[in-house]
Amino acid sequence: MNKTAIITGASKGIGAATAIYFASKGYNVVINYNDSYQSAALLSRSLNEQGFKTIAIKANVANKLDAERLIKETADRFGGVDVLVNNAGVSHIDMITDTDEFDSDRIFDINLKGVYNCCRAVTPVMVNQKSGKIINISSMWGQVGASCEVAYSASKAGVIGLTKALAKELAPSGITVNAVAPGLIETSMNNDIPAEDLSEFVEEIPLGRMGSPNEIAAAVYFLASGEADYITGQVLGINGGYVM
Ligand code: NAP
Repeated sequence: MNKTAIITGASKGIGAATAIYFASKGYNVVINYNDSYQSAALLSRSLNEQGFKTIAIKANVANKLDAERLIKETADRFGGVDVLVNNAGVSHIDMITDTDEFDSDRIFDINLKGVYNCCRAVTPVMVNQKSGKIINISSMWGQVGASCEVAYSASKAGVIGLTKALAKELAPSGITVNAVAPGLIETSMNNDIPAEDLSEFVEEIPLGRMGSPNEIAAAVYFLASGEADYITGQVLGINGGYVM
């Protein structure tokens, strides 16, 4: 029987690339989205037309009931959840004093509470299976902090803390929990960065370029594979050498 992976925030960017990657390797893939119905439905349809098995499920991961429904609908439809990729995330760039409570709450709610909600909801399913792989998408800013992205950096550092704690808690049940910490990746998340700032940033990356969503997807796939069975509680940096 095919394995099943849920990718949160898979309507575009890194999540969409990860959904395509897993589907192409034979996984049943749940493409989670919140706002972008059109993109999620289009992606699911085009993958299904190529013979892959995917469904799109709307759920706001920041909402506990939505997260629980996402996991339940997946388990009911495919008989289990082998892989959960917590990818959904938002960013906000501003000085801490210019960031209002709405924006900081939104970041913590989606980036950290969203990961917590999905992990909490999937745990009984994976414990019952005595197997499972959880991969959380953090950020290099969660490792080293970014000026003008205090809430974002804190939320992503929180994801690393969550990953390590949950890895210890679930290891006895045969479940691994790891994080990926991307650097600067070519997605719409970086559309607001002025071109000049972006090229200055790229100049500081030892490998001299931005990363592609597919390069993150490949690492996530590795952590979900049997090749990574002895890896848990780790943070894999994929940043062109920017953070070592
Ligand atoms: P993106 O292109 O903006 O995509 C973000 C995805 O998150 C979208 O599919 C969006 O879906 C989804 N999302 C947002 N709020 C959601 C919610 N409440 N519930 C469910 N889904 C939600 O961003 P990206 O660059 O691919 O980022 C993906 C992840 O990588 C994020 O966690 C981000 O922090 C992390 N990351 C990105 C970079 C980078 O340079 N791009 C670097 C480090 C880490 P809808 O539009 O359907 O709401």
